[in-house]
Amino acid sequence: MIEYQITEEDRKHPERSGVFVYYKNLKSGFTDNMPLTGWLEIQRNRNRKDKFALVRYVNPRFTQKPLKTRSAEQPEVEEDPLECPLCGYVAKDDKDLGDHKSTDHK
Ligand SMILES: [Zn+2]
Repeated sequence: MIEYQITEEDRKHPERSGVFVYYKNLKSGFTDNMPLTGWLEIQRNRNRKDKFALVRYVNPRFTQKPLKTRSAEQPEVEEDPLECPLCGYVAKDDKDLGDHKSTDHK
């Protein structure tokens, strides 16, 4: 599994990046995700920042479309798009993955 690292471009235009962030709510212990835009706002707020811990960044464009558009600039990605980025569970389809995330990670 390849970790996505956000770029300067993602930071400048988080709403365009398509990136979302898995984070842990340190108070409740729960893991959830939010768009990068919201995450960067939290990072600018000292009081809220300390309540959340980064788990990983996920860029669906980066992880789900490597095969058709692969070029020299794009790293080879072996990640299964139906694989849960949190625990590695491999779903049957998108719906199954959604169900898994909402039941197992809430
Ligand atoms: Zn999972």
